[in-house]
Amino acid sequence: MCVSLASDRGLLLDPIAPGVYGRLPIFERVLAGLSEAISNLDPSAHPEVLRFPPVIARQTILRAGYFESFPHLLGTIHAFSEHEPAEAPSDLVVTPAACYAVYPHATGRVPVEGRLFDVESWCFRQEPSDDPERMRAFRMREFVNIGSAERVHGWRKEWIPRVQQFLARLGLQSSLALANDPFFGAGARFLAMSQREQELKFELSVEVRAGATAACISCNYHLDHFGTAFDIRTENGEPAHTACVAFGLERLALGLFAAHGALVEKWPDQSLRLLGLSRAQC
Ligand code: 5GP
Ligand code: ZN
Repeated sequence: MCVSLASDRGLLLDPIAPGVYGRLPIFERVLAGLSEAISNLDPSAHPEVLRFPPVIARQTILRAGYFESFPHLLGTIHAFSEHEPAEAPSDLVVTPAACYAVYPHATGRVPVEGRLFDVESWCFRQEPSDDPERMRAFRMREFVNIGSAERVHGWRKEWIPRVQQFLARLGLQSSLALANDPFFGAGARFLAMSQREQELKFELSVEVRAGATAACISCNYHLDHFGTAFDIRTENGEPAHTACVAFGLERLALGLFAAHGALVEKWPDQSLRLLGLSRAQC
């Protein structure tokens, strides 16, 4: 009934469309545990918690520059109207990353201490693949920090060892690497190089199935890109800088199953405790 990795473990249903999976209860329980554990990663922080649906205003994605940088990944929503029997582009697209939903709500001045958001959303990227870690629809949890360049850059730096430790406590071996986003078109190579030179993106990868690793968390610094695009300013009127730490929940769950096996009740105590799961529940 399921793809090779998933089937023996009863985690995911065979996709009908590539990269779109139905999920079994144990997979969802682990995912919920991960989500809860992520909430507790920085007990001193009090983020503004926001949850968004899997669709987002086309206007927001246009404003963010996504149509120029990543049109090849974007899913757009077409719909019929009451009067028109043909499909036409609607005012919505499918959310490509959770943090985009935050920026239009942060327009204006941010206080000296900045703003911190905790956001989660289903995301979509048009990357059909038979590899279960490459899903077209998946959930992304993000912490998003907005403020001065210095504070935001420092915040992102603090989070790298925090997520490394998180993965270690879950019993996952991870590797940290400088990375770049898959930009589109003629300028792609230059943009990717410049993103790497400025050390804007780091990824943590884990083994997600025998012999395959994938990035499960990214730590991103966007300079003033979103501050300028969404007119978000610091207290002295400069465009604000932004950073996000993004957790791919399904990939983290696949990493746990790859490391600890199909039977959750046999997972290490520490991993279960961190996920808030008891052996009896599994
Ligand atoms: P980024 O915005 O850095 O590309 O993605 C953030 C995180 O979302 C990644 O580190 C990864 O965990 C998750 N992610 C990105 N693309 C995919 C995908 O195709 N499938 C799944 N399951 N997760 C993804
Ligand atoms: Zn983000």
